[in-house]
Amino acid sequence: MSRKWLVAGGGISGLAAAQCLQAHDRDYLLLERCPAVGGLTRTTQVEDFCFDYTGHFLHLRRYPSPAQIPYANLNDEDWETVERKSYFLAGGRLVTAPIQYHLGELPDGLRAECETSYDARPKADGDATGFRDFIVSGFGQAVADHFLIPQNEKTMATPLSRLSIGAVKRFFPPPDEARIRAGFANRGERFAEYNTTFWYPKRGGIDVLTRGLAHGLKSVAANQDISNIDLDRRIVTTSSGLAVEWEKMFPSIPLKTLCALTKDPQLTTAAAKLSHSATISFNFGVRGKLPNALKDAHWVYVPDRDIPFYRFGCYSNISSAMSSPGTSAVYVEVGVPGEKIDGVDIVGKTQKDVIAALERLGWIKSEDIICAVTHLIRCAYVHHTPDRDGLVEEILSRLNTFGIHPIGRYGLWDYVGMEDSINSALTTVEAHV
Ligand SMILES: Cc1cc2nc3c(=O)[nH]c(=O)nc-3n(C[C@H](O)[C@H](O)[C@H](O)COP(=O)(O)OP(=O)(O)OC[C@H]3O[C@@H](n4cnc5c(N)ncnc54)[C@H](O)[C@@H]3O)c2cc1C
Repeated sequence: MSRKWLVAGGGISGLAAAQCLQAHDRDYLLLERCPAVGGLTRTTQVEDFCFDYTGHFLHLRRYPSPAQIPYANLNDEDWETVERKSYFLAGGRLVTAPIQYHLGELPDGLRAECETSYDARPKADGDATGFRDFIVSGFGQAVADHFLIPQNEKTMATPLSRLSIGAVKRFFPPPDEARIRAGFANRGERFAEYNTTFWYPKRGGIDVLTRGLAHGLKSVAANQDISNIDLDRRIVTTSSGLAVEWEKMFPSIPLKTLCALTKDPQLTTAAAKLSHSATISFNFGVRGKLPNALKDAHWVYVPDRDIPFYRFGCYSNISSAMSSPGTSAVYVEVGVPGEKIDGVDIVGKTQKDVIAALERLGWIKSEDIICAVTHLIRCAYVHHTPDRDGLVEEILSRLNTFGIHPIGRYGLWDYVGMEDSINSALTTVEAHV
């Protein structure tokens, strides 16, 4: 058996890694456990409705446009630049997101409470690295308690007091006093953020990107669930009995799972301390249009703890090709602690609560739901706890000694988007070919 350059996992990171290896003429093999590649960037078509795995929008920093993403085989004419329209459900109305820069849109009483509390915000402790303290000292206790803490705790499915500021990095609009004050004054100013605009396919869902990255790959084996990784012999075995020896391995499988598959005591001990949330994404095809308040909303953050979901989104407000005229394609995301996702009937119970909440809000009537597709994202947001950096460093350096070089959001156990995941795969492979 000749040693392969092994790519473990066929989401966009694995596909990009495989393209790069193919371009360098390496004898590679990509193993994917599902029947189709794509991971979290797959798209499902149900009758006239097109659903992504959950809302996935392409934000580019490194590459000027989709056509310039290496190996992705994309044409810019197939993509639209979309100006983001996102909101926070706060004080019984939709307030422009990020809410911390639009507090003047709140009802008067709530706005005044937030402004008074902002003026009295505690000073940041010079050494403070906690996410919760960062929010309270940056925006004041009222904004923290009403909106930012519950929103992030619902999303990450963990108390924010466990997390460090690394949890959010560039994705969190910072406590910029000029912007916050402009927001209180409700001057309608808009400032550039990482996702003020994004790219989305004109036809079909985000798997236009996935299909582009998969195009022309010659050595992909689907339905191959890696069930054991023998570090000493450098052999991966799949549950269907395939055994592959690796020269170098580039896994995008979540790092915690990967370590468990090795059964190595040091790796499993370290990985057991890593935690993460899961997301259940309920996708609904709905008869009729959404209520007027939601008519242009791409997505809405929902911090209220009495409502089970942390975000509601509407694919068909982003691209009319996602459903037929007179219907809407929507998604609703619920955060669950990673270890609870396999609980008995959690999906069935949660779906009932989600639909009841949509009815209460007056957003969707249950009798208008034509179809429902549920996606489980077992590992959704990794938790940047204070010991995360040290643990990941320890794990990666041990894996590297066996020729294993993780890639992507979950391989590297980080909070990054699609472009970063692709880029991490390309830079990692380039460093080894
Ligand atoms: C709720 C949510 C919303 C997001 N929204 C956005 C967004 O709007 N924009 C953006 O840029 N990014 C977004 N992201 C991030 C984006 O999903 C990731 O950066 C990207 O999809 C990671 O791709 P990947 O290939 O590294 O991982 P994955 O897509 O998870 O691929 C990993 C692959 O490994 C396979 N695999 C797992 N275990 C095994 C095994 N044992 N054997 C073989 N194969 C295995 C899986 O089946 C999967 O195909 C979002 C993420 C979440 C959770």
